[in-house]
Amino acid sequence: MSANCIFCKIIKGDIPSMKVFESDKTLAFLDINPLSYGHTLIIPKHHGAKLTDIPDEHLTELLPVASRIAKAVGTENFNILQNNGRIAHQLVDHVHVHMIPKPSEEEGMGINWPMK
Ligand code: 5GP
Repeated sequence: MSANCIFCKIIKGDIPSMKVFESDKTLAFLDINPLSYGHTLIIPKHHGAKLTDIPDEHLTELLPVASRIAKAVGTENFNILQNNGRIAHQLVDHVHVHMIPKPSEEEGMGINWPMK
């Protein structure tokens, strides 16, 4: 945990968030400024600014959770994004994976929270 980290504060519950998944080492919550309906951030609870700062064992759930979110949203159309460093558009210095649904018109906008 890092005292001044906004995502560590979300993990602790000091800042409110819309949580969609939580385990002992991973948290997923809705992005406050979504690029699409269901835009979710998936983070390791272990604090580190960049992907290269995080021990492998704290990274193992990130993509499986993104996959579960895609299934919960009910779309096969989505982007996974993970920014590192200011030049690469990273704004929050706690590793996070963006899951950005891009459902087709046929798939619609329904989300089956909580995830199964
Ligand atoms: P980055 O550019 O660092 O990859 O993306 C940071 C993301 O964190 C942005 O999409 C932004 O909307 C999101 N974000 C920043 N502060 C908060 C917050 O306090 N709560 C939530 N839920 N999302 C946040």
